[in-house]
Amino acid sequence: MKVFEKDNAILKMLSEAVSEGLVIIDGNQTIVSTNKAAEDMFGYAGKELLGKHLDILIPKNYHHSHHTYVGEFITDADKRQMGHGNNLFGLRKNGKTFPLEAGLNPFQIKTKVFVMALVVDITKRKEQEQRILDLNSDLEKRIKTRTQELEKTVDKLEFEIIKRTEAENKIKQALKREKELNELKTKFLSMVSHEFKTPLSGILTSTILLSKYHLTEQQEKRDKHIRTISEKVHYLNNILNDFLSIERLDTGKENYNMTTFKLSKVINEVVYNANMLLKSGQNIHFPSEIDDYQITMDEKILELSLSNLVHNAIKYSPEDTPIEIDLEKNKSHITIHVKDYGIGIPLNAQKNIFSRYFRAENALHNQGTGIGLNIVQGHLKNIGGSIHFKSEENKGSIFTLILPINCAL
Ligand code: ADP
Repeated sequence: MKVFEKDNAILKMLSEAVSEGLVIIDGNQTIVSTNKAAEDMFGYAGKELLGKHLDILIPKNYHHSHHTYVGEFITDADKRQMGHGNNLFGLRKNGKTFPLEAGLNPFQIKTKVFVMALVVDITKRKEQEQRILDLNSDLEKRIKTRTQELEKTVDKLEFEIIKRTEAENKIKQALKREKELNELKTKFLSMVSHEFKTPLSGILTSTILLSKYHLTEQQEKRDKHIRTISEKVHYLNNILNDFLSIERLDTGKENYNMTTFKLSKVINEVVYNANMLLKSGQNIHFPSEIDDYQITMDEKILELSLSNLVHNAIKYSPEDTPIEIDLEKNKSHITIHVKDYGIGIPLNAQKNIFSRYFRAENALHNQGTGIGLNIVQGHLKNIGGSIHFKSEENKGSIFTLILPINCAL
């Protein structure tokens, strides 16, 4: 204390000149000098702090760590900044603590060690820091909430987009179906007008001619015209039956009558009827020993399918070529092949061959409606069978029916 009193005036002047709080302690951590800023900061008046232990300015729970720290500091005296990074607190006279930053400056007067602590009250800075931290965490929270909201909106939007795309696709499909239906109608009308015109004008011609044969000996001519008329009526009747068949297939109203019968019965009938259509030099070859081929299915459907294939084979192949029917059988299915050596189906038409009203370019000079194969395919699908073909233009075609031995609905 005495050392300080000596130079009191100079010290006073110096210590009052610094804006930080200044506390000088001796080697026992006893306060030997303070400036006004330090007194104001800690809430003491005048010389009140002099002679008190440094602990008076430090909250109780920090005493221990401070003792060690300041002790160590005095031993290897060195200028150091306290309170950077580690949180230091001061204790005001009124018992309130406050954050502070302290720079420690050791010095010696004669043999005595002193430490001058320059103390800054950082309450405001800490408050600002805290405010910034609060603001930051508030901002983070808001960003989080916004992000979540955004994510929800994005999810909703995505859902909305998916729904819209689905709706769009449905509309597109409906439009496509509508377009296809329109195309079918157009094809149907052009086919009807074309296919009906020729036989009808044939019937008309025969009727006109018929009326001209009055004499008894002209009976042969009359018969010829009556045959023509009946053939053409038959043909038109077949087309109309096909239309009715389509209608029933489309509306799912087709009723199948499953019975068990010998395959040879149907094949014989089909071949017998087809013989009348054969061109000159055409023959139908079919297996004769097939009596053990029994099948359970709708007999009419088998007859319709097989005669369709045989009639096409006759129609689309030239004179003097054979038409071959072959059978195969395994445990569950009977396979029937109908082979011809005719005009064949051009490669680019093959994918459409089962489409309704479709006719390949090379078939157009033969009469036809493009309905038959479509109907056969429809029926076979319904009863668990199928139809396939292999064909090469100008070489011929093989159409194949695969039928379950026991068609069950
Ligand atoms: P249609 O014979 O009355 O035109 P189909 O539905 O029976 O109708 O046949 C569709 C089309 O398939 C035919 O127009 C023809 O182009 C082709 N086709 C069918 N069978 C044969 C065949 N054996 N040889 C060549 N082309 C065929």
